[in-house]
Amino acid sequence: KSDERLVLKEINKLAAQFFYTALRKNNRGLEYLENREIQNDTIVEFGLGYSPKDSRELYRYLKSKGYSDEILLKSGLFSGDEKNGAYCKFWNRIMFPIMDGNNRVIGFGGRVMGSGEPKYLNSPETPIFDKSRNLYGLNFARKARAPYFLLCEGYLDVISLHQNGFPMAVASLGTAFTSGQASLIRRYVQEIYLTYDSDEAGTKAALRALPILKEAGISAKIIRMEPYKDPDELLKKAGREEFEKRIKEARNGFLFSLEVLERDYDLNSPEEKTMFFKEVATRLSKFEEDIERNNYIEAVARSYHVAYEDLKKLVAKTAISLG
Ligand code: ATP
Ligand code: MN
Ligand code: MN
Ligand code: MN
Repeated sequence: KSDERLVLKEINKLAAQFFYTALRKNNRGLEYLENREIQNDTIVEFGLGYSPKDSRELYRYLKSKGYSDEILLKSGLFSGDEKNGAYCKFWNRIMFPIMDGNNRVIGFGGRVMGSGEPKYLNSPETPIFDKSRNLYGLNFARKARAPYFLLCEGYLDVISLHQNGFPMAVASLGTAFTSGQASLIRRYVQEIYLTYDSDEAGTKAALRALPILKEAGISAKIIRMEPYKDPDELLKKAGREEFEKRIKEARNGFLFSLEVLERDYDLNSPEEKTMFFKEVATRLSKFEEDIERNNYIEAVARSYHVAYEDLKKLVAKTAISLG
């Protein structure tokens, strides 16, 4: 089946070239990218494209190259049935080729220009596209030679970061962050900065990514995004120096998870404050290494203005009752 994989890579490459050429002839697509402040160099580097409104064009092009319907359907680019034939799923969208670490196109993300649902369409899993083992932007990030990666949510976050001098940005592919992606990152760096969207979905996704990163031996810090919704918006509205500053001020993942927990409690109420610290103590008691646990107890005591000894006792008590 390695032959099939080779052919699928060929098809994806031809499709990327086709979309790229189509973008050059499409004023609306170019205008959309210009409005989003994407420079021409970036379009070239990331191979951005446009999938024509005529959803049969790509099919005709690839048929002219001699590919069978069977393999074209396997590429994930087409939908269709016997009666109506194949059409490109991504018609009338801005196309983001997804490349593996070696710059080979393995799939696509497609965005509507302006509003419309769904905002993004992504290639389905295919024999060459395993979403849980790839990251958007890895082909650039691995060459960036930075001691850390920036892990964000979206295509345009990676592109904006790249354009603003942060080529070490990668994004998980519209799915939850996986341990396969963590091992991939670990091949290149031991440290990452999470820069997910500031909305509830982004916060939850960041919290879920933390234990996966820890498990893979990657130390993670979280970049504060508010009041902006994502890195792309932050860079546009506040500039790269602001992002630089926020990297320096990034919070430890554990402390970030406490800040999120805090939202569920009214710390002005003595009962709720006690409940909050009991939960914090439970979490602290789970650090197995004494030194690590004590360091966190110290950090929490400092940031919440409670006595180190009190908190330490509470953690010890919690550890005993948890067995
Ligand atoms: P934009 O700035 O263009 O609105 P975004 O990247 O900020 O894009 P989000 O809604 O924050 O968009 O989504 C983050 C990422 O999640 C997207 O880049 C895309 O990879 C994925 N995604 C978003 N919406 C969908 C969808 N409807 N189907 C599949 N994937 C999606
Ligand atoms: Mn989002
Ligand atoms: Mn976003
Ligand atoms: Mn965005």
